[in-house]
Amino acid sequence: MTVTAIQRASFTGADVFDLLIIGGGITGAALAHEATSRGFSVALVDKGDFGAATSAATGKLIHGGLRYLKKLEVGLVRESLAERRNLMRIAPNLVCPIPIVLPDPGLVEHLGLTAYDALAFDRNRLSDPSKRIPAHRGLSRAELDRFGLPNLASGMLYYDAMMISPERLTLAFLRTAAAGGAQLANYTRADRLVVRGGRVLGAEVTDLAGGDPGLIRARVTVNATGAWAHDLLAGDPQTAELAGPPPRVRSEGIYLVTRKLSDVMVLTYHAHGHFSFAPWRGLSLVGPTETPYLGRVDEWRLTRRSIEDFLSAIAADNTARVKLAIDDVVWAYGGLRPLTESGAVDTYTASRASELIDHTGQGVTHFLTAMGGKYTSSRAFAARIVGRLAARLGTAVGPSRTAQTVLDGCATPDLPAAIAAARHRTDPAVASPDTAELLVRLYGADAASVLDLARADPRLRQLATADGEPLATVAYALRYEAPVHLTDVLARRTGIGQLGDPGPLVLEQAADLAAEHFGWDAGRRLSELEAARQAVRLPLD
Ligand SMILES: Cc1cc2nc3c(=O)[nH]c(=O)nc-3n(C[C@H](O)[C@H](O)[C@H](O)COP(=O)(O)OP(=O)(O)OC[C@H]3O[C@@H](n4cnc5c(N)ncnc54)[C@H](O)[C@@H]3O)c2cc1C
Repeated sequence: MTVTAIQRASFTGADVFDLLIIGGGITGAALAHEATSRGFSVALVDKGDFGAATSAATGKLIHGGLRYLKKLEVGLVRESLAERRNLMRIAPNLVCPIPIVLPDPGLVEHLGLTAYDALAFDRNRLSDPSKRIPAHRGLSRAELDRFGLPNLASGMLYYDAMMISPERLTLAFLRTAAAGGAQLANYTRADRLVVRGGRVLGAEVTDLAGGDPGLIRARVTVNATGAWAHDLLAGDPQTAELAGPPPRVRSEGIYLVTRKLSDVMVLTYHAHGHFSFAPWRGLSLVGPTETPYLGRVDEWRLTRRSIEDFLSAIAADNTARVKLAIDDVVWAYGGLRPLTESGAVDTYTASRASELIDHTGQGVTHFLTAMGGKYTSSRAFAARIVGRLAARLGTAVGPSRTAQTVLDGCATPDLPAAIAAARHRTDPAVASPDTAELLVRLYGADAASVLDLARADPRLRQLATADGEPLATVAYALRYEAPVHLTDVLARRTGIGQLGDPGPLVLEQAADLAAEHFGWDAGRRLSELEAARQAVRLPLD
């Protein structure tokens, strides 16, 4: 089987692309895929790793957003519910239904869930039986006990969907775009827009991985830099006026990866707001927080303080009576929400709707800012953006097909059947049935390619996570997924760095594989290993 490899592009300014996308989170990735699928030539750059910022900070939910119904954001909820189904169709291995318990529901919750089901009227128009989503219902005492929730007096069960790996889903969009001809480069920063006579003609870029400075010429440029959108505009005198005042406050959200708390996701409250705990890869995902952040976007980092504050809020009171201590936390991550209402001070209630700003009205043409509100709705947002671009360029494009087209590597139309086949057919000397299943969930149709690597090199059969991810995923990432640093491999392309410190042996082995692949000298290997060590542990300060 041929695997599409992402090759890091370099840009000399020799070509003129239809579209330059600045930012390779899910907004930029979905846009790159949408645009190439409709005939545009595309260049995309990200100053860090692909999908490493807010798009890696999510609760991994692909959801309508039940709580947005309270604000009567019916359009946003309906679009997101339609996208929930679309993403289960185009990435069936990565996006699956998850049962959710709403504790102690009253009439408002019941009415809300009835509306939620009604807005998802077409949710079961999918052929994969594992993607069926039943209507919400009440839970009996016995069922609550069976779910491991003896503390709850009552509960309602409903479903949304969860990504096993948002990082791999963002990569799947990028890979599909690459297969369609998009030129992609991580660790490539857009420093300055090229503006002539009020028209944006592209951007000057710096290759932060050591290459030459470059130029990207494009007919249209889209600023898809999420929480950095204001900084990109304000940092350049030519566009500073477009930026307007900086957001008064941003919103930090963090998640804790903890020992497993239950087999279902549970929504609950502490004194300062809602949070949930969800089963994920044998552990639990607990979050998010919603904390005002007043610093610079570039300076944000996850701190020990944020983790401890969250644990204190949970310990003080929570409706599900969850008990968590720092020793229960194996890893944590977070990011800043790119809220579209820049003036909002109450970040919890700020809208999660996406926003497209065409700067023509401000006197700068061929330049748009795309602020993604939810990971869930990024594909639909991208389809809208391409429609707008085509109109602006006077280019005829066909209708969007991305809601129907399965992403590169994700062709597992009947996931249970694909899992059963992998469990049954994989040579146990190469991978156990559990590892084979995990690989299908993470790599879809490409699981076979990961197994091929393990078959050819016994070193790669070594397990690197408690739930059975083998080192072959490291080799696969190095070969096909354009990482630059060891941390890119461990914290995003694989789950090895996301489930707690995998231990010195695994880190050393992964570093050896990366050093072998890139030809790193001993010094570079050591510095990469040290950075990876920090990335897989909780911060100390
Ligand atoms: C805590 C939290 C939980 C969330 N949970 C969910 C959820 O469960 N479900 C859901 O649907 N949504 C969720 N969201 C929202 C979702 O994560 C965001 O809407 C989405 O990830 C935004 O993606 P983006 O591509 O616009 O931004 P980002 O992912 O931040 O991407 C922007 C990229 O631009 C790059 N960039 C910046 N400046 C430059 C430059 N000068 N040159 C080149 N590149 C540049 C950055 O490096 C970055 O990678 C959550 C958000 C947070 C914070």
